[in-house]
Amino acid sequence: MDTLWAPWRMVYIDRVNEDSAEASCVFCRAAAPGGADSDLVVHRVGRVVSLLNRFPYNPGHLLVAPVSHGGDLGALDPGEFQEVAGELQLATRVLKSELGCDGFNGGWNQDRIAGAGIASHLHFHLVPRWSGDTNFMPVLADVKVIPEHLEATRAKLLAAFSRQPPG
Ligand SMILES: [Zn+2]
Repeated sequence: MDTLWAPWRMVYIDRVNEDSAEASCVFCRAAAPGGADSDLVVHRVGRVVSLLNRFPYNPGHLLVAPVSHGGDLGALDPGEFQEVAGELQLATRVLKSELGCDGFNGGWNQDRIAGAGIASHLHFHLVPRWSGDTNFMPVLADVKVIPEHLEATRAKLLAAFSRQPPG
């Protein structure tokens, strides 16, 4: 079996932002409407924000985060966690219908020792998978950046999320 999902490699990907301050946190900025990095956001609802990973493993690689700045899943408000879980469910439905993926990898890295690059702000990775997608993945998948595809994917997902009935 080919393995695409290698969470420890997120260290490299997340290294774009080592600063733990809220003001420079990619998730806090994305959660603020019109803020920096909001160009990656595909859905904001309640206390949750979903955005595309700028350095995706696969098209549609989503990051789902609570809006509140904090890195500990155990410390997350239970209601907020429920909202995050609901968003993960919704996101799998949207990604499946819009991108036609065959499966998913998902999870989170908590704290530096586990490979979290942005350890200060909890976020879940949701990576769409297609049959045979490891066949054409470059060895250095981390640097596979295709901005046009990111924008096209974002437009598609933005529209799809906006069509979803409110939870
Ligand atoms: Zn933050």
